[in-house]
Amino acid sequence: MNDFNTLFDTIKKNTSFVITTHMNPDGDAIGSELALARYLISIGKQVRIINHSHTPEFLQFMINTNDEIEVFDKASHSEVITQADVVVVLDLNQLRRTGDLEEPIRISKAKKVCIDHHEFPENFSDIEMFDAEKSSTGEMIYDILSEAEFKIDYNIALPIYVAILTDTGSFKYDRTTPKVHRIAAELLETGIDTKSVYREVYDQGSANRIQLLGRALSSLTLFCDGKASYMKVTRSDLAETCTIEEDVEGFVNYNLTIKGVEVGIFFFELEDGVKASFRSVSKVPVNKLAKEFGGGGHFYAAGVRITGENMELTIDRMISETEKYISEFL
Ligand code: 5GP
Ligand code: MN
Repeated sequence: MNDFNTLFDTIKKNTSFVITTHMNPDGDAIGSELALARYLISIGKQVRIINHSHTPEFLQFMINTNDEIEVFDKASHSEVITQADVVVVLDLNQLRRTGDLEEPIRISKAKKVCIDHHEFPENFSDIEMFDAEKSSTGEMIYDILSEAEFKIDYNIALPIYVAILTDTGSFKYDRTTPKVHRIAAELLETGIDTKSVYREVYDQGSANRIQLLGRALSSLTLFCDGKASYMKVTRSDLAETCTIEEDVEGFVNYNLTIKGVEVGIFFFELEDGVKASFRSVSKVPVNKLAKEFGGGGHFYAAGVRITGENMELTIDRMISETEKYISEFL
């Protein structure tokens, strides 16, 4: 049970807040940060949103001013983080996922608040708002504002809506409860245009991105008698199509459009390692599978970043572990 009163008390008693989220932020990460920051500012707090990564292009339409979200810079931000009254970490439960902010957060004198909806949390914060039943961190921010009896306006409704939209796979995943739809309905009443939001989020990619998708699709490999499949993108695929990491958002899901595939993996070659994304259709808990390699996530969607390992080696290791999981859980 989450203790709203402790959170409200901390908000009330403090002035300066830093909000952050995980590397390579998604719609839930950025949406939750903007909503919480705008709320805190509206009640008179000083707020900085500081992230390890820059904000992906497809989420920038939500940002109101250039400095609303800052990219971490050691020289100018370390002290802001160590001296803040409160640091709020959103949409993650392992502090190392904050990237370069991990160290300043660890040594900070600030009260640390973590608001998240993933399983297997690590204990690093003073106030933990964890609920793995929630569709998104955005839904949890909604609950907090609602508990505070705060009237949500368009400026706050929009990022919460995007958080929920993206983390529910456009209102289709398991945790898309009747309550999620009720929240969405309330948010829409502030004037959100669903069609244009959908277009901003999903249909404004570059032609290069589609070229990259073509390469990823061509790399499709089935294994485990067609019960699993993977796709990959290499550094040279990126270089030759002039694309960047954020362009692969969503590619992993194509695995699951294949009849019979229960587990889909997407491998992305990093400069010094590999990012693997796992997706499951029904019975295989991919968060456990990702955890075997040091990652985590949700039952149906999980991931891990591995440094210093050759991608082909990672692929071999992950294929054999996936085979074990499929024979155990299917
Ligand atoms: P994606 O594959 O879309 O990057 O991530 C899917 C989910 O897996 C995310 O919502 C997040 O919960 C989790 N995830 C992705 N990468 C990592 C990682 O490096 N570590 C952990 N613990 N979880 C991750
Ligand atoms: Mn999330």
